[in-house]
Amino acid sequence: MSWERLEDPPRWVREVYENDGWQLKFEDDYLTVNGDTWVYKIEFGEQYYRQLKSDYYDTTRNEGTCPNCQAYVRRLDGDRFLICHRCGWTVGLPVLRWLRYPSWVDYYVEKLLNRW
Ligand SMILES: [Zn+2]
Repeated sequence: MSWERLEDPPRWVREVYENDGWQLKFEDDYLTVNGDTWVYKIEFGEQYYRQLKSDYYDTTRNEGTCPNCQAYVRRLDGDRFLICHRCGWTVGLPVLRWLRYPSWVDYYVEKLLNRW
């Protein structure tokens, strides 16, 4: 899957760059950071990108990332198949993105928008 360019990354992602950006020395260098919903990529030259966790990480029969709410999912004893214990998604169900829980970052943005 492809990366989405971010013009205005969350503050905590910028802080990662402030702390660890010195490690980026060549044009191909980048850092990745896990958020609640997104994996962020910071490239040399302070370019920010993001990608849904469920697109970035492979999901196997036993473990992975819920494509619905982006929670980490793992097959527990007694589960007949991979199931998300947060939103109820199971393997084979169509992805319902509109059910996705907002991360606190998304929530914060929505709150600001609604206020004005
Ligand atoms: Zn889920």
